Amino acid sequence: MHTSSTPALLIAASTLIRLAHPTDASLHRALDKAQDRLMTTPWRMAFELLDIVSASHPNEIHIATRTGCTCEARRTCWHMAALLIVATISATGVELVPALPLPNMVLMEDYADFDAYAGDFLDEAIIWSISE
Ligand SMILES: [Zn+2]
Repeated sequence: MHTSSTPALLIAASTLIRLAHPTDASLHRALDKAQDRLMTTPWRMAFELLDIVSASHPNEIHIATRTGCTCEARRTCWHMAALLIVATISATGVELVPALPLPNMVLMEDYADFDAYAGDFLDEAIIWSISE
């Protein structure tokens, strides 16, 4: 079962996460960004990893897990908070469909090549969005 991303659904999931972490102010700030940016930023969930375009560098994709992120923020970043929101919804048995999906692609087996891969991919993505 799939459901579309909507602001109300993202806020609902964000609220559930806050309930479980009532005193974590840095997580709350990350959730504030994540619940908005999941509507405005292309992302893809695959194999427990969230691939999401950087808000400040649209030519970069960050990969977030529950314990870390390629943006190397010292605290919980909004990418990790976004993963928690998507995972909270998927825990209900419903797969969240991105508002702005990253095009389907074969998951890299070798993340050492990720930079070259992201560069190629984003060149294609720009062409893809112009031709829409
Ligand atoms: Zn991050």
